[in-house]
Amino acid sequence: MTPETPAVGATPPTAQGTRLDPWLDAYADRAHSMRASEIRALFAVANRPEVVSLAGGMPYLEGLPLGVLGELSQRLVATRGTTALQYGSAQGDETLREQILDVMHLEGIDAHPDDVVVTTGSQQALDLVTRIFVNPGDVVVAEAPTYVGALGVFRAAQADVVHVPLDADGLIPAALEETLTALARAGRRVKLLYTVPNFHNPAGVTLSASRRPQILEIAHRFGVLVLEDNPYGLLGFEGDPIPALRSLDADGVVYLGSFSKTFAPGYRVGWAVAPHAVREKLVLASESAILCPSSASQLAISAYLSTCDWRGQIKTFRELYRERRDAMVGALAEHLPSATWTVPDGGFYTWVKLPAGLDAKAMLPRAVTARVAYVPGTAFYADGQGGDHMRLSYCFPTPDRIREGVRRLAGVVAGESEL
Ligand code: PMP
Repeated sequence: MTPETPAVGATPPTAQGTRLDPWLDAYADRAHSMRASEIRALFAVANRPEVVSLAGGMPYLEGLPLGVLGELSQRLVATRGTTALQYGSAQGDETLREQILDVMHLEGIDAHPDDVVVTTGSQQALDLVTRIFVNPGDVVVAEAPTYVGALGVFRAAQADVVHVPLDADGLIPAALEETLTALARAGRRVKLLYTVPNFHNPAGVTLSASRRPQILEIAHRFGVLVLEDNPYGLLGFEGDPIPALRSLDADGVVYLGSFSKTFAPGYRVGWAVAPHAVREKLVLASESAILCPSSASQLAISAYLSTCDWRGQIKTFRELYRERRDAMVGALAEHLPSATWTVPDGGFYTWVKLPAGLDAKAMLPRAVTARVAYVPGTAFYADGQGGDHMRLSYCFPTPDRIREGVRRLAGVVAGESEL
């Protein structure tokens, strides 16, 4: 017997002293497609204080009323401890589900508390929807580029991700129709259309109001469920939010929301809104995965929503991120005029196209040496495209740090052109 073929019930050998994984042969097929994201590998270096990280998507939490939140938590444990620290319902706390309706109302969504499933961040909702719909080899259609965390979920489910291009107005309806037609002709089963309609991660663009009904009509015609992932929708810098896809179609859309960007990701509370039958499956899938979402987190968020000015807090975040967006695009115009970039109307990210011939992934180690980090565009595609792009986040660093980061980046780009 070799170390690669352990006997059933044998004590797992430690990996100490060897780089071989003795369990390699034992993994399920889906585990072989799990890989560390390029962002994760980056975090270790990017978190060093001397590096300006334009890489991560962490919200800036200094502006939260931390003292008030501390008091709320303390009171919660003192007065409702036996509920807050107990298991709860798999679908989520009923009061919180009602409050979530108020949040979604701001984007035109009219739903019933029974339609809502509370999850451990919207990331878990993404995983649950994928689990209940996607068999290995099924197609998931997603924007090009798309959210790196969704790619991880789709990869783990052994889905084939097919990208559809977007432009300044979001996903292109004609391109979607063309792709779905070609897939239907090829006899491929398309299970989901995954889209981030508002302030896209990573592209920074927003699906225009006029395209929304077109996208829904095409998806409906091809019998494809739309998975609307919307953590940034309330973080627009101008005007009112555009009505959500779910507000236009209650039967063909599963909507994902989150408190991570408008409040705090550490609570890990997100939600899904789904048509009735799908919602029942989601609850069952969630129950088998986690039993129930955290009662303490849900009750803390519920207390925050009922006692604090959460709308005012979102306005504060919008102003803070708008100032940072301005710092980012201003610095790009000043220091990197040879590149092009999207100017987001909200959210956390801008998508930068490098001057011809440059490779964002190859350049990254030199950027980190120059004390600036970003995410290379390849992270956001299932098929290795995107080398000429990078995602720059302006959510976490202060405006001065953003300007300094872009200045450093421009130095790296200039050096690259000379290589
Ligand atoms: N979807 C998108 C588009 C995101 O950017 C993120 C977080 N970066 C998530 C989902 C997951 O967010 P959470 O699990 O914190 O709600």
